[in-house]
Amino acid sequence: MRRVARLFKSSRHSIHCPKCEGRISPGAIYRTGAMYCDHCGAWLATSHWLSDGSYNWGLVLERLADLLIEPTPEYTDRAQACLTAIQSGHSNQPATLMAGFSDRLKKLSFEQIQKVYRDTFEGTPSCSLSLSKSIYGFRGDQENFVARMSRELESKGVQIAPYSSDHLSLCLRAMSRRCAALGEDLAFVVLPAVSKIVAAMRGTNNVFEDLLSTVEWVLTPR
Ligand SMILES: [Zn+2]
Repeated sequence: MRRVARLFKSSRHSIHCPKCEGRISPGAIYRTGAMYCDHCGAWLATSHWLSDGSYNWGLVLERLADLLIEPTPEYTDRAQACLTAIQSGHSNQPATLMAGFSDRLKKLSFEQIQKVYRDTFEGTPSCSLSLSKSIYGFRGDQENFVARMSRELESKGVQIAPYSSDHLSLCLRAMSRRCAALGEDLAFVVLPAVSKIVAAMRGTNNVFEDLLSTVEWVLTPR
């Protein structure tokens, strides 16, 4: 509890979200283990460890999601923040993958990063980050998944636009805001689609391969 409370140390009795200024009840955060704002969906936890002593995978999922949206000039800083979050974990493997991604990014200009992102995720259908078509063969199932994800993201205050609600970044944000069992359920559905993207990238020398491999590692149950 104390660890969670420290995230909001500016005021003990009246805690407000730094993004939307909505009031957050510390009791509610402790009770549900929620680390996000109910009003605007902003991820609020910054600690790599949770109050119960478990590793904060939600933070890693959030940092990975930040790297799967259209790059902005702070992209390499975000990659560094993600690397820092992953390095705090127990395993070297995802940290090595993420370090490889971060190192390759440093050799590219922002314009180059943006171009590779668009060519890869918007221009190559097998690498599309809108996952419903890859997960489900039937159109009705695809539409159902998109509708369910929209409802879930809206209920958690997460902004969907300009992406479709089945976008990998939004699936990761939904996972980090779910209770552990439901989060694993969504990971189980999303993982094969991520593996397909990794397979499509293999041998293409794409800078994003290590990023998608990191996502694959994090979603794989072990
Ligand atoms: Zn908020």
